[in-house]
Amino acid sequence: MHMSAKGTVVPARTIGAKCKCQLKYFELIGDDKIRKIFEEFNRIGDKQKQDIYLAGLIIPRTVARRRSRAETGKEKETSFKYKVRVNGQEYPVCKNAMWAIHGITKFRVENIAKSLIFYPNPILCSNRTCEVDT
Ligand SMILES: [Zn+2]
Repeated sequence: MHMSAKGTVVPARTIGAKCKCQLKYFELIGDDKIRKIFEEFNRIGDKQKQDIYLAGLIIPRTVARRRSRAETGKEKETSFKYKVRVNGQEYPVCKNAMWAIHGITKFRVENIAKSLIFYPNPILCSNRTCEVDT
């Protein structure tokens, strides 16, 4: 956020803060590639296309939770893995790094992730009327 000349607040689309996790994804990927990811993502322009792009970088994994025998098969949890793509290569990242590098909110990533549970194929989904809500 910064102030314009008239004093109104203008939201700036920028790369988010570096994640502070021990894996230091920002440093592993490097500033040049991070900037490229950010710029290419913003060049997509169309929000729905951006969401489809992002959906391709979120990998849902259904994990069966261990529970008492009385509840067998009922409790399943979906966890997600995240990656970023640049120069034809993919890099695994944490969720925080993923939204920060694309300059988007974590809510947008979370909503796309959630939608993947119900609509595992976002491209098919976008041809129908269901919404990848952000
Ligand atoms: Zn991190």
